[in-house]
Amino acid sequence: YQKKIIRRCLLPAETSDGFRVKVLANIELIEEVTSVIDHGGEGIGLYRTEYSYLNRTTLPTEEELTEKYIDLASIMSPRKVVFRSLDLGSDKIISEFGQLDEANPAMGLRAIRFCLRHPELFKTQLRAILRASVYGNVAMMFPMISGLRELRRAKARLKEAQLDLAREGVPYNPDMPVGIMIEVPSAVMIAELLAREVDFFSIGTNDLIQYSLGIDRTNPNVSYLYQPLHPAVLRSIKQVVDAAHQVGIEVSLCGEVASDPFCVPILMGMQIDCISLSPQAIPGIKRIIRQTRMDECRNLLRDVISQQTVGKINRMVKDSIFKKY
Ligand code: PEP
Ligand code: MG
Repeated sequence: YQKKIIRRCLLPAETSDGFRVKVLANIELIEEVTSVIDHGGEGIGLYRTEYSYLNRTTLPTEEELTEKYIDLASIMSPRKVVFRSLDLGSDKIISEFGQLDEANPAMGLRAIRFCLRHPELFKTQLRAILRASVYGNVAMMFPMISGLRELRRAKARLKEAQLDLAREGVPYNPDMPVGIMIEVPSAVMIAELLAREVDFFSIGTNDLIQYSLGIDRTNPNVSYLYQPLHPAVLRSIKQVVDAAHQVGIEVSLCGEVASDPFCVPILMGMQIDCISLSPQAIPGIKRIIRQTRMDECRNLLRDVISQQTVGKINRMVKDSIFKKY
């Protein structure tokens, strides 16, 4: 029975009429790779690198990070590993930099903003990722990019790290794909501009929902308003997918929405290239994809995208799924 389950996990995520979507995994710790492979993950679509920095009193060194990243890249090779550069700040604080004492930490000095404010910390990590890039199929992405200037500044830091390594004769892959996470409404609005300057997008719906609907994702008082199928959220995701495809780059989605059986058929209808989710959720989502046809997904998308309220969309999606099973 167990063997049957494992065999099923390894089947590709392909609709019954032959459309394929890549299914990758989100991880926080390298120890999770066994679980990724056992559950049929085709690679790592989001490695949350913060955890090497938390719950300790000193910062990790370049050597420590490089060793860890090389391990991950080589264990997963030839499967892809997408490193997300540090997403510290907000609820993830490191003692080295003290308390930030911000009134609105989610809108404060977090993620790429924090890294650009601390160039040495950023450079250490960028060098480690670059050094690991020759050991496997490595890509990297910047979190919470909100505009072109910020993206260009982040890319300039990466270029500096590359030039330093080249000068030192340390090998790295100059063609490592570089992408960004789309997590704030401003990035959605200018997705078509951002798409021309990166190799891929990854939509972070956990934050995109928070910032689009103005709901603190950690506040239980407003959690009832945290609605992945809100028309504004669906339109945003579609706008980003279309902008990416217009210039021919891949788009992935790595928020919780990717493991929601009610959302995945809609994402398929939008022709998302890849989803990334927690390893344990992969077999169930692959199963749903394999039991679905692309024309059903396209029809569902067409029906929901024209609706005005989240209540109506929720009912439509549930009806379509319950009718099927
Ligand atoms: C997201 O915001 O959807 C995401 C994947 O990043 P995190 O949950 O780590 O903020
Ligand atoms: Mg996020």
